[in-house]
Amino acid sequence: TARLAGKRALITGAGQGIGRETAALFAAHGATVWASDLNVAALDGLTGCSPIALDVTDAEAVRALVDDIGEIDVLFNCAGMVVSGTVLDCSESDWARSLDVNVTSMFRLIRAFLPGMIARQSGSIINMASIVGAPKAAPNRCAYGMSKAAVVGLTKSVAADYVTQGIRCNAICPGTIETPSLHDRLRETGDFEGALAAFRARQPMGRLGQPQEIAALALYLASDDSAFMTGQAVMIDGGWSA
Ligand code: NAD
Repeated sequence: TARLAGKRALITGAGQGIGRETAALFAAHGATVWASDLNVAALDGLTGCSPIALDVTDAEAVRALVDDIGEIDVLFNCAGMVVSGTVLDCSESDWARSLDVNVTSMFRLIRAFLPGMIARQSGSIINMASIVGAPKAAPNRCAYGMSKAAVVGLTKSVAADYVTQGIRCNAICPGTIETPSLHDRLRETGDFEGALAAFRARQPMGRLGQPQEIAALALYLASDDSAFMTGQAVMIDGGWSA
């Protein structure tokens, strides 16, 4: 059955990985989907979705998007980036960019689309966090973990402030998921197979997650099936944090 029939959804970072799988799944469940990405060419072939070029760090473009596409029922803030390194490795610009792309982007999109949701007393906002951040640390992920922990703080704040106005806001905290950017990070180590084995070894299930498995959670959070759920940071990590 179509679990998102009649709903309009905007997804950021939909060009590849989890965002792309989620856009396809939302469309398959009857939603009208605006799939956005910095790299608009990456949206090619995403059937059933309207492609939109959007850099989530561009505050003006985010504001203009509201006039463009109008009100939405579901906002999935999925765009994000990874900066590697410890606190001593992290430059001022890596720190600032981690916050801008991973957190301030969500602040911008929520401020743009929440008023329309409040007017209709209905909306589901889903923010992409990570198991790395509020739930736990990973080595060499200082700025990344800091930014993803902040996502959980933003999520709970929005949930608490608008709970009486029909708005729900939840965060997803995935473990290691096999996506194009993960493969890039593995290649960058210079030892793809060794790095992949190390990632697998910290997974109690002995395998990495698949983007479809995270998309299925996003579908639940977007749909009315999760109507009683708000302010949560849902861990989906193959038992890593158990
Ligand atoms: P990815 O990193 O492979 O792709 C991210 C997409 O976001 C790309 O298409 C990229 O073009 C886009 N993007 C980057 N900067 C952007 C910007 N400024 N504006 C708009 N779009 C931009 O995808 P992924 O690995 O599925 O990660 C998606 C989200 O899930 C990220 O927020 C990431 O931090 C989070 N996450 C991923 C994992 C994992 O293991 N892959 C684990 C936990 C959390």
